[in-house]
Amino acid sequence: DTDTDAGARNSTSLRTPIVAVLGHVDHGKTSLLDKIRGSAVIEGEAGAITQHIGATAVPLDVISSIAGDLVDPDDFDLPGLLFIDTPGHHSFTTLRSRGGALADIAILVVDVNDGFQPQTLEALDILKRSETPFIVAANKIDTVPGWNATEDSPINATYEAQTDRVSSRLDESLYEIIGNLSDEGFSADLYWRVQNFQRNVGVVPVSAMTGEGVPDLLTVMMGLSQRYMKEEMEIDVTGPGVGTVLEVKEEKGFGTTIDTVLYDGTIRADDQLVVGGMNEPIVTDVRALLQPRPLAEIRTESRFEKVDEISAASGIKIAAPELEDAMAGAPVRVVRNRDLDEVIQEVEAELADIAVDTAEEG
Ligand code: GDP
Repeated sequence: DTDTDAGARNSTSLRTPIVAVLGHVDHGKTSLLDKIRGSAVIEGEAGAITQHIGATAVPLDVISSIAGDLVDPDDFDLPGLLFIDTPGHHSFTTLRSRGGALADIAILVVDVNDGFQPQTLEALDILKRSETPFIVAANKIDTVPGWNATEDSPINATYEAQTDRVSSRLDESLYEIIGNLSDEGFSADLYWRVQNFQRNVGVVPVSAMTGEGVPDLLTVMMGLSQRYMKEEMEIDVTGPGVGTVLEVKEEKGFGTTIDTVLYDGTIRADDQLVVGGMNEPIVTDVRALLQPRPLAEIRTESRFEKVDEISAASGIKIAAPELEDAMAGAPVRVVRNRDLDEVIQEVEAELADIAVDTAEEG
């Protein structure tokens, strides 16, 4: 490396993969997200902000302390995982980026006792169509009769703590799920038998209640991202930000705000934005970028604190004038040093894509 090279190098960096959770109602999507969040808070260093707007960032060092021996942080250069807080396929299909799914990777939650259900099949269909890599979390393993739980334990240790009868009962349920996946055209296996996660779907036994298998789940997600999605995670971190509106919300003291998942570049507090609107793209200026204030600091003050800038991937609340017509799922683009008309055209093109998809679904 010469000095000239270093000078010419742009600010390319690897962003956090965005993770969505899908599955049939009551199979444990919310519980699993809560468990992951809870473990991340316990393992995270004091003061480490993991809560974003609409999303939870679990940094690599936290994943590595949850996963213990399963993860050597030196094997990874992706910064962690960003989980979208609203599970379910409505949010998955609404949240899009440049014609694809906003989520880079997904967890399909299946209750081991209940097996495949209508919404499991719907979710699989959506994952197939959007070509989103996913793994299956075979959830509620703690409900197998006779289960002997070891809180937050990796799966192999948990298996060793079961009687033969209990573990073969779990295996039966797991193989039924693997069979169902195969019926739907997915070659699947228990995750520790999978060599190539691009060709085979890994099934991870977990319990959102006891935390068993959660170390494995995070390890597999991290490994899959690192191995197969690293190139897609390369972004120009300081470039003009690009994101998707999660939700449009009235916020006391700030007016209409948009909760946004940023998947490329940076948004700054003095940026001009183009946001997808119900009738036409909205051109506006950021008034404030807001993040949740750490719990300890909440008194009578606002729940939010202002930040000067934020880089992908992250969840951020944007306050700006004229956001009343903004729509969930619509694109958000920073203008900065780009041509405004060009950015408007990009947003219009993305809105047209969304309209076509909505028509197809309806
Ligand atoms: P969602 O509709 O997919 O988000 O499902 P929830 O997370 O709301 O879970 C549905 C119910 O299943 C709740 O009563 C949870 O407490 C329960 N549940 C979720 N995961 C587990 C698990 O791993 N073990 C047990 N025993 N119960 C669970």
